[in-house]
Amino acid sequence: MAEQPEQQTREPLRIVVFSRRAGFADGLGTNLPSQQHAAYEELASTPESGARTGFVVDLESLPEPLELIRALRQHPEWRMQLIWTRGDAGPESRALTDGAFETVDNPGERIETCSGRLLTANGGQPARSQDDVLLTLLWSHPHMSLQPVRDWSAPELYRYPLLDVLLEEDTPEFWLRGLKQRRLVEGQELVDRVRLCPGCRHGHLSFVDVCPECDSLDIRTEPGLHCFSCGHVAPQRLFQDNGMLSCPNCHATLRHIGEDYDRPLENHVCGGCQHMFMEGRVLARCMACGQAHDPDALEALGVYRYRLSEAGRLVARTGDIGDLYGVFDEINYVSPEHFEFFFDWTLKLRERHEEIRFGLILLHLNGLARVIDTLGHGRGAALVDSFAERVKALVRTTDLVTRTADDRIWLLLPQTSADGVDVLAGRLSRLMEDSVEGTALDRLGRVYHESSIGMSEAEDAAAVMARLVSRSQ
Ligand SMILES: [Zn+2]
Ligand SMILES: [Zn+2]
Ligand SMILES: [Zn+2]
Repeated sequence: MAEQPEQQTREPLRIVVFSRRAGFADGLGTNLPSQQHAAYEELASTPESGARTGFVVDLESLPEPLELIRALRQHPEWRMQLIWTRGDAGPESRALTDGAFETVDNPGERIETCSGRLLTANGGQPARSQDDVLLTLLWSHPHMSLQPVRDWSAPELYRYPLLDVLLEEDTPEFWLRGLKQRRLVEGQELVDRVRLCPGCRHGHLSFVDVCPECDSLDIRTEPGLHCFSCGHVAPQRLFQDNGMLSCPNCHATLRHIGEDYDRPLENHVCGGCQHMFMEGRVLARCMACGQAHDPDALEALGVYRYRLSEAGRLVARTGDIGDLYGVFDEINYVSPEHFEFFFDWTLKLRERHEEIRFGLILLHLNGLARVIDTLGHGRGAALVDSFAERVKALVRTTDLVTRTADDRIWLLLPQTSADGVDVLAGRLSRLMEDSVEGTALDRLGRVYHESSIGMSEAEDAAAVMARLVSRSQ
């Protein structure tokens, strides 16, 4: 926010170099003040703040440069700073850093821009969650992305080193899935496609051919015969009978190839059930959980390099604004489970008493992030407060309110005619516009509503609510 302490922006720009080569920092040719350390521990013992610092890591002279880079990216004071490298960077280092130092024209300007963004990111608040840290980092480092690295030991065969170092809770796979589901990141480049066990989501699969009849692993190639008189197909050894060939099924004697018998196309035989076949069935066996699956049943996962989406950039700037919705929890609030329970109960009551009329209203405050972004956290929060006050004035004591997925607020209006629902929804919709009047925004969100007349008998509460949610997307 604008009222950030001034001295922070006055702190001098500087370069901190890690190298064991004497005079390495001087040889970088930058006009910024710089200091050189031979090891991470030397930096850890300095009292200076990490703000407005750019790091350069000399990959070639340090014993464990990757460990050092990881330590920087994990340290609360330095993790958000630019880290450039000198020398040959492997995929893991590249995924954690801002690129090669020699490609940077003006390091001072880059540090300046990055620190400027760090000051305003997250609504000017310190990062509280791993999401906050990651989104802020990606937003303030335009050259960074979520870069996958191939790793045979990773459950999904690829890992995201940046997620690994910033991870505080869950697993990296679960974290990434959450980011994708909330559309905070978007695929920038498809790197690979892997197949995962649908049972445990591991990518370590062993493909085996098995007997199509009995799934036995014990199959081999063997010549077979095909008896013309009964059509039986079996391994040749089962036809051999004292130097003659006779069918084990119909006992016909087979003398002339082409007349009594021929060689079948099937040349695989199962050691378990003696079945002959042309091609075995392929099974994918999961080396993690042991389940066997048809290859078609495996889960295909596109491995992407991800960047911040438009929604992700917005959240990086405004921070997590979920707590702002709390003001709505003071209006006749019931938990979502209770809300659904009462709603279901009302739907059932209507089956017996046709005269019962009620309504459901959904307030989708999807404009709130823009409001915070445009007006700042303080003014934005005040605007939401006054909106909630005015909603409260419109809600009767018998109406129920709940909140799901942060930005969706639900009102259940018992004993309300279809016209009554229309009228209230209209008022709420106008309120959505009025509350942002005088700002550059057009509305705080949208209102969706439905009277019980539109709800069919086949629907339960969850179905009606899902229908309104899909309209709001
Ligand atoms: Zn036969
Ligand atoms: Zn078999
Ligand atoms: Zn598995």
